[in-house]
Amino acid sequence: MFDPALIRADFPALHQEVKGRPLVYLDNGATTHKPRAVLDALDHFYGRDNSNVHRGLHELSNRATTAYENARTRTARFLNAASPEEIVFTRGTTEAVNLVAQGLAARLKPGDEILLTEMEHHSNLVPWQLAAQRSGAALRFVPVTENGAALDLSRLDSLLTQKTKIFAFTKISNTLGVINPVKELCQRARNVGALTLIDAAQSAGHQKTDVQDLGCDFLAFSGHKCAAPTGIGALYGRFDVLDSLPPYQGGGEMISHVRYEGSTYKAAPQKFEAGTPNIADAIGLAAAIDYLDGIGMDAIFAHDQELAAYAHEQMAALGFLRILGPGPRERSGLVTFTMNGVHAADVVTAANEFGVALRGGHHCTEPLHHKLGIPASARASFYLYNTRGEVDTLVATLDKIHGMFV
Ligand code: PMP
Repeated sequence: MFDPALIRADFPALHQEVKGRPLVYLDNGATTHKPRAVLDALDHFYGRDNSNVHRGLHELSNRATTAYENARTRTARFLNAASPEEIVFTRGTTEAVNLVAQGLAARLKPGDEILLTEMEHHSNLVPWQLAAQRSGAALRFVPVTENGAALDLSRLDSLLTQKTKIFAFTKISNTLGVINPVKELCQRARNVGALTLIDAAQSAGHQKTDVQDLGCDFLAFSGHKCAAPTGIGALYGRFDVLDSLPPYQGGGEMISHVRYEGSTYKAAPQKFEAGTPNIADAIGLAAAIDYLDGIGMDAIFAHDQELAAYAHEQMAALGFLRILGPGPRERSGLVTFTMNGVHAADVVTAANEFGVALRGGHHCTEPLHHKLGIPASARASFYLYNTRGEVDTLVATLDKIHGMFV
């Protein structure tokens, strides 16, 4: 039985007061809190097994290597990858997208096209702008519909063509809460011979991910948005496609043989993990995955959606908010809004005075905000430990803030 009240007991950071009131943490789209199981995994590693991986022939190094490679296997199983060799540990989504974009830039040429959507996070936009500048390829964008309710797929046939070499899109929009039909998008891309990259930053910790079922070539996610530490994430790549990319960085561990004149490289994934990796946090990621799977990804997503629908309905009833994105029943676990007559930064700063943590700004989707005609917005984003009572506090707080400013 899914019970957020019980789940909360596992997250030490939730049990504190801010400005004399119980913390209501609704900034999970930015980063999530970590359960005791993850903190214990880090403590265990540093307190007992700490050593470098793949290098030593001693006990601690062997333990560290086993735990690190087990974390890769666990991550592969979490995404239903065909093998652990399809998982590259990265700092997060941003680094994973950069790895692919830089690798593909070497083979793109003028006349080629990179297709994105108008709702991409800067992390899945700027790396492609760099790849386009370097290669001469052109950027194209699938538009969003009115108020950012969905992707406008009526334009897809004219945008996704034989010229498209890569189609990169988010599974869940961090600003709109839109859930994109990513399996269909991968299929449509395959039909024209384009590669696909899914930005799963907002979905991997919330919704079951099955890369084989989705049929994507690449998928990127960040641990810190999935109850795991910061500084760790993963890139999934279908092995042949992944292994065909050139190295992203050079250094130790990614090479087979080195001479002064040049080097040969290991196969994926080691080819992309130069230097000492983030061993402890990879182990922490595996602990977070165990924790989430123990609760059940389907139950987590149902809870997210239920809270977001409830929040959307209560917030809309206030009458002075513009809520971005789709309707209450079609969205992921976040609600982004503007308040009539009050700047988003003021809303978020005032909410903090009531112990409510929101996010304000353009949420790293500045072009989307520009398109929607707003400079900034405020966002409440939910996770498995949030409750309906916290949504009620949010709604009451927004009402008070409106009364203060307007
Ligand atoms: N894509 C999306 C949709 C995101 O929400 C985020 C984080 N806000 C990112 C990419 C980037 O993730 P990170 O900063 O962990 O690399």
